[in-house]
Amino acid sequence: MSEYKGRCACGAVSYEIDRTPLIVHACHCSDCQRLTGSAFAINLVFEAKAVTTTSGAPESVKLDSPSGHPHEVFLCKACSTNLWSKYHAVPYEILYVRGGTLDDSSKMPRPVHIFTRSKQAWFKPPESARAFPGFYEVEDVWPAESLERLNEVAV
Ligand SMILES: [Zn+2]
Ligand SMILES: [Zn+2]
Repeated sequence: MSEYKGRCACGAVSYEIDRTPLIVHACHCSDCQRLTGSAFAINLVFEAKAVTTTSGAPESVKLDSPSGHPHEVFLCKACSTNLWSKYHAVPYEILYVRGGTLDDSSKMPRPVHIFTRSKQAWFKPPESARAFPGFYEVEDVWPAESLERLNEVAV
């Protein structure tokens, strides 16, 4: 059974995901602001093998990133909606799926806020949320079950 379904704006590309996310990020970095045209991106992190394209096929573009390794963005070639990203600096087969492309975005778990040092001044993460000025130590933040799942998809 699919935990999540989603699609691009025109519907040419749709997808299903058969498990819960490893972690969810609200990323306030300037690259995510530019890519989304918004104050932050919401990314649900999954094993790449958990994300199945059910119609169409996304194209990808490789962007430079501060890591020196490409940030590959997958998008619908018809409507240009960004669907997910692969960060080639990350030594795991994982994808960052854009939360706003879910059919039922109310199912999104609460995010960990990252790169808040470049967040909009008018935005304040909820008191109860975990928030970090940059990135964080994965071992300190991810649930044990997610760490186990991550180790299974090490490159
Ligand atoms: Zn589309
Ligand atoms: Zn970002």
